[in-house]
Amino acid sequence: MDCIFCRIVRAEIPAEVVARTDDVVAFLDVQPLADGHVLVVPLAHEACVEDLEPAQADALFRVVRLLAGPVREAVDGAGTTIGVNNGTATGQTIPHVHVHIVPRWQNDGAGSVHTIFPRKAYRDVKEVGTLIRAAVAEASSGIDVGRGAD
Ligand code: 5GP
Ligand code: ZN
Repeated sequence: MDCIFCRIVRAEIPAEVVARTDDVVAFLDVQPLADGHVLVVPLAHEACVEDLEPAQADALFRVVRLLAGPVREAVDGAGTTIGVNNGTATGQTIPHVHVHIVPRWQNDGAGSVHTIFPRKAYRDVKEVGTLIRAAVAEASSGIDVGRGAD
């Protein structure tokens, strides 16, 4: 397996590891967007969030939650942007799930999640809501998809 994050998980190549559990490793990004830019990865090699087993996803986001405060505080940040490039079309360069935690400051020159998008949405919101509820209902049991806003 040639995956760079698998190699970091197995400690075959160096990384500035900041946390490790039975399911997850967190380390500093080698090309940080800001001081304290952390990547949180599951030990399991899966490309996208939806490929993770529920327990793997739980473990991943549990560590993200745990690190968000300490990472921010360690570099005197005012907040964090937490994001996942989920699939090659989104700009994901390494096909092993990784959650970016990037510390932020007032007027740091970076945008919000909204600034990624040129705002191209053409379809009726109710129609899209119906489609997604149907897809969620088919894909899962145990999630209440409700009936929409009516
Ligand atoms: P992506 O664009 O796939 O969401 O982000 C991949 C991230 O992994 C990039 O921010 C990049 O700087 C980081 N990265 C790539 N190779 C390495 C590496 O060998 N070590 C570390 N620590 N980070 C890496
Ligand atoms: Zn991998």
